[in-house]
Amino acid sequence: MLIKGTTQLLGVIGYPVEHSFSPLMHNAAIAYLNQNGPAESPPRLSLDYVYLPFPIPPESLEIGIAGFAAIGLRGFNVTIPHKQTIIPLLDDVSEVARAIGAVNTVWCSGSQWHGTNTDAIGFLAPLKAIEKDWTQSPAMILGSGGAARAVVAACEQLGCPEIWVVGRSPDKLAQFADSWRATPEISSKLSVISWAQRADYLPRAGLVVNATPLGMHPHIDASPLSEAEMYQISSGAIAYDLIYTPSPTRFLQQAIAAGLPAIDGLEMLVQQGAAALEIWLNQPAPVAVMRQTLRDYLGI
Ligand code: NAP
Repeated sequence: MLIKGTTQLLGVIGYPVEHSFSPLMHNAAIAYLNQNGPAESPPRLSLDYVYLPFPIPPESLEIGIAGFAAIGLRGFNVTIPHKQTIIPLLDDVSEVARAIGAVNTVWCSGSQWHGTNTDAIGFLAPLKAIEKDWTQSPAMILGSGGAARAVVAACEQLGCPEIWVVGRSPDKLAQFADSWRATPEISSKLSVISWAQRADYLPRAGLVVNATPLGMHPHIDASPLSEAEMYQISSGAIAYDLIYTPSPTRFLQQAIAAGLPAIDGLEMLVQQGAAALEIWLNQPAPVAVMRQTLRDYLGI
């Protein structure tokens, strides 16, 4: 990648930010587009961007964003711990990001900062490729953290008739339910369920999502469901783990053994990034290149 005097900046903010795969994925996409252009247009050789990691401590967020405005940064991704705290610093936040309560993608137009959340788009991408009557498919989401919020918004968009969020802390579950009160299209479908009760709901679920870290390093032998519980899920249901490494996780191994279609978190990661890149560059993202770059890097 050639960095010139004209090169424009994109990036990711977080603290820490070293763990982020976004620089890898986006720079591979930019390099590819620079050489090949989007598939449906003539080759374009002047895509003059670079994507950088910006570690910004929480207390420096406001000054960091002011600095981005000063240097004309075109857009950036947002990761922990800034996904919520960036909202008041933006001029405009999309409806979906407001509902989720978190922004992961920011772009500049004129002198205004706009924010949205592409995690729900990323989560939905592999589900949209599946032929299924989602209006007959209640969704069970195991975990009630940040990722679960995007999954809830996505399940509402998908048309799931009920959305069950399972958690181990009654207080956190009550807060989670409260946080959707201003979004009636979601709160009317949402129920929170205690960890102990989850097995009772499994036979009716059409989609079961692991939105906990159970199954990730160093707990790769853990799963949010037992093998016996996995067999209680009906045969048409889909098991979806947001974790992308290891692949398959224990949860997905159990699902495959029980004959359920299984989806891992890699596609969500790729597609949320592709959706952000499309906002910044206003052209289709090379999804296959982004996916393969991550696969090669993760060795999966
Ligand atoms: P988070 O905000 O920390 O939330 C984690 C949730 O899991 C919390 O509700 C937590 O419950 C629950 N949990 C943790 N340990 C548990 C256990 N032993 N038993 C039952 N519940 C447990 O994390 P997050 O950002 O939502 O991420 C969740 C998972 O999604 C992670 O594995 C992350 O890597 C993955 N993820 C993937 C993508 C992607 O693009 N594929 C994107 C985002 C996240 P408590 O609140 O009670 O602790």
